[in-house]
Amino acid sequence: MSWLTNFVLPKIRAAVGRKAVPDNLWHKCPGCEQMLFYRELEANLHVCRNCGHHLRIGALSRLKILFDDGAFAQIELPKTAIDPLRFRDRKRYTDRLKEGQTASGSGSDAVVVAHGRIGGAPAVVAAFEFGFMGGSMGVAAGEALLAAARLAVLQEAALVVVPASGGARMQEGVLSLMQMPRAIIAADIVKEAGLPYIVVLTDPTTGGVSASFAMVGDITLAEPGAIIGFAGARVIEETIHEKLPEGFQRAEYLLEHGMIDQVVPRAELRATLGRIIGLLRDPHPAAELPAPTPAEAEPRGAE
Ligand SMILES: [Zn+2]
Repeated sequence: MSWLTNFVLPKIRAAVGRKAVPDNLWHKCPGCEQMLFYRELEANLHVCRNCGHHLRIGALSRLKILFDDGAFAQIELPKTAIDPLRFRDRKRYTDRLKEGQTASGSGSDAVVVAHGRIGGAPAVVAAFEFGFMGGSMGVAAGEALLAAARLAVLQEAALVVVPASGGARMQEGVLSLMQMPRAIIAADIVKEAGLPYIVVLTDPTTGGVSASFAMVGDITLAEPGAIIGFAGARVIEETIHEKLPEGFQRAEYLLEHGMIDQVVPRAELRATLGRIIGLLRDPHPAAELPAPTPAEAEPRGAE
């Protein structure tokens, strides 16, 4: 591929032994194509130091970034029927599920739920694992979101949902589509309890996910450069026979068009969430208000 991978890496391997240098030592930035040292990238929360591109991260890394001191407790999620339609495309759905579990190492399906504190306040986070079948939303994801909502109510905590998903899981057919209203119910459970429901849109948030719970947050944040939309840009271009504007479906474009509230760099997410949760939970002013002047204190005449 390059001088680094063809020449330097084999030399290093020969010098220190193959096992000591994993293949992921260098990582190519999808934004600027620069080779990045993996450990350095990890220390920078998987954000490219060169161009600021926010690389996709797994659900467990996400939870570590969001919770205070990186401390959280993952909850066990309800078991759901496996492969209810006995679906098979190029592979069996059950095999795809096993592969997803091995690849992600975070849980039995695409959503991981944990509780802890953000900015000192209790919070439940439901994070999508894109490495698990593209973070697709099947019955298990619907159950996970409902479990997260119920836990938030039980703990009087805020619910933060972090989608990273291509949308519905076609291997579950209509059952997958039914998770859209179920996910909306999950959001409603939290809202009806008067607790904050916050969405952090990450790359990518598309399809049925963007058409349901991802767009009904009390506050909606997004990571820089994240692709957020329903149908893919190419499909839209081919359908309407028009060239789409620059930056279409990117977080910044959505902010400009009033679809989201703020684009927040990964390094600032925890502090921003903490501040928002604090404000939503305790809207009272932090300092005492000055006493009203006699004119203001006088009762207004009845009308
Ligand atoms: Zn870059």
